[in-house]
Amino acid sequence: MALYQKYRPQIFSEIEGQEHIKNVIQAALLKNMASHAYIFTGPRGTGKTTVARILAKALMCDKPAKTGDPCLKCRHCLEIVDGRAMDLIEMDAASHTGVDDIRELIEKSQFAPVSAKKKIYIIDEVHMLSRSAFNALLKTLEEPPAHLHFILATTEIDKVPETILSRCQRFDFHRVKASDIVKKLETVCKGEKLKCKKTVLEMIAERADGAVRNGEVLLEQLMSENALDEESAAQSLGIIGTAAVNKFMELLGGKKWKELAEYIAELHNFGQNLKTLTREVLKRLQNNLLEQLNEPEKLGYTAKLITIFLKASDQFKSSLVAELPLEMAIAEIALLDNSEIQSNNAQKYSHTKQAVNKSNDEICMAKPQPKATEFSGHIDDTFKKLWVEVLNSSSLAVSLRNSLKTAIPREFLDGNLTMVLHSEFHFDKVSKPDISIMIEKEIENVFKKKFTINWISEPQVSNSETEQISHSFTPLLPSKTPVENAHEIFG
Ligand SMILES: [Zn+2]
Repeated sequence: MALYQKYRPQIFSEIEGQEHIKNVIQAALLKNMASHAYIFTGPRGTGKTTVARILAKALMCDKPAKTGDPCLKCRHCLEIVDGRAMDLIEMDAASHTGVDDIRELIEKSQFAPVSAKKKIYIIDEVHMLSRSAFNALLKTLEEPPAHLHFILATTEIDKVPETILSRCQRFDFHRVKASDIVKKLETVCKGEKLKCKKTVLEMIAERADGAVRNGEVLLEQLMSENALDEESAAQSLGIIGTAAVNKFMELLGGKKWKELAEYIAELHNFGQNLKTLTREVLKRLQNNLLEQLNEPEKLGYTAKLITIFLKASDQFKSSLVAELPLEMAIAEIALLDNSEIQSNNAQKYSHTKQAVNKSNDEICMAKPQPKATEFSGHIDDTFKKLWVEVLNSSSLAVSLRNSLKTAIPREFLDGNLTMVLHSEFHFDKVSKPDISIMIEKEIENVFKKKFTINWISEPQVSNSETEQISHSFTPLLPSKTPVENAHEIFG
């Protein structure tokens, strides 16, 4: 038997949540003023059928308690629990929508109960009835015999005719609070002699989306997967809620780095699985990427974010500090963002002022600006500045440095720097394996980072590329006349 069936509440007090409904119904039962027609509406799994059955039992019970609850011991209570009560008719309108079924039902409802004092009809998914079936039901609801009670339930109240609604006492079932679902799951765990941390039950409750039954089904799923520890439960449940991902994306979009870092810490402290969060964030970015396929200016940025978060998701397993991969990702994005701003200003490049962060603690969280001489992994102004240092390095031969000066950095990706040369002569010079290694070593000295260079020879170049590079580099390069350069190159 499924957990939700095994632990289905048998009396009102066993139901978690829905106080506004239980209280009214119990009070009416005590005053012997139960309605002849009820309609229960609300999302799936919020207890409509459960309340309907308890109500039916309470109405049929020989010795109801002072709370209005059924005794669970009398003949009628036991028959209902065993599903063999003649006077309780349960119908699922989703599978009996024909008018004949309803006519048959109405004919039978006119007869006195077989053994109990009341006759109860529970019609689930009542909105599925056909128009003529509703009409047949309506006639009975207009003048119901004293022994007869109808309990209708639906997830789609809008589809139930007004004429029916007006003859019913309506109860709206709310989504059950997570804390109430946790209480119910604790009862189940106790009954199953199951040891399960409250944090895991809270994760289940969050995923249950307000439905107790969902919670019980998820718990059963985790039991069968033997995944009741926090880590595996979070993995299995994919627990990060939509609200958390929304907030993360909002802060990310708003470039609120410091708040984002704080939020990551908060989620972690709350027992949320940050790897799962990263996965959800990646899904969102993937959607953005697909939507932006025709918007190249946005696409590039999104693609970079995806690369950064993918890298973070790979690092969770080996990271000694759980939050670190995600925090590093944020730091990297903050740096990227800063370098993008800088490269937008490349045309106005001047090296008169460069923000220098005072402490490493502040790394890009408070002020997302890299140290002036710290390479961010992108071809930005910092890169260019460091590159000029390489070009001026005394450990490289002057002629080699002059060849290097004609090289244009095009792309930096995964530790690979692509440099384009427009002259075959210079290309041949720098791309020789031993020379290339020497240059890479010098780059490592200056950049404090190792990377491989892919030299590309391209006879033609677009004007914009030449222009950009000359703008960016000219002010920093030692000025020499073409003759001096020629002398160094060839001499
Ligand atoms: Zn009873």
